Amino acid sequence: MADYNYLFKYIIVGDAGVGKSCLLLQFTDRRFRAEHDMTIGVEFGHRVVEIDDQRIKLQIWDTAGQEAFRSITRAYYRGATGALLVFDIGRRATFDHLAQWLLDARQNAQPNMVIILVANKSDLERREVSTEEGAWFARQNGLFFLETSAKTGQNVESAFLDTARQIYENLQAGMY
Ligand code: GDP
Ligand code: MG
Repeated sequence: MADYNYLFKYIIVGDAGVGKSCLLLQFTDRRFRAEHDMTIGVEFGHRVVEIDDQRIKLQIWDTAGQEAFRSITRAYYRGATGALLVFDIGRRATFDHLAQWLLDARQNAQPNMVIILVANKSDLERREVSTEEGAWFARQNGLFFLETSAKTGQNVESAFLDTARQIYENLQAGMY
């Protein structure tokens, strides 16, 4: 017997260096690595969470370097019900590229995939993108929104759990 009732596939997208692998590691292992050798690090992660007494396994896919070549394929998106679209509040260009990432996702993902815009590195003192700008982009595009820090752990749980609850509700409503 499986040790969970549901399996949700998540993907994490966004420019290289925004903290995707660190967010995954923080969520699955509750730790942070400052070193820069994450490419050979995690490509997948998983964790079982509970919603309404149901055990839900979140299976999380990390692009692990492919983002540099923009070779994210349909296979990567296939079956995904949740997505973290990540940018770095300390690097404006990663925010400017969001529209392109979103277009990619809309073209390749299944309908009703729940997307959260994740403004990562909220611990940084020097910022290039304000909270308001992030919130505005999310509102314009119908995305959830949170500012996170994969370093301190701030809001990392919520980024996954809030979306998991929405996916769970969509599932109950027969949307997948
Ligand atoms: P990826 O290419 O999107 O997977 O990015 P990584 O997870 O490899 O992170 C890129 C760099 O940003 C690494 O040096 C991390 O230590 C750093 N980093 C990731 N998340 C945070 C964060 O929340 N705060 C700070 N200050 N640094 C972070
Ligand atoms: Mg990575």
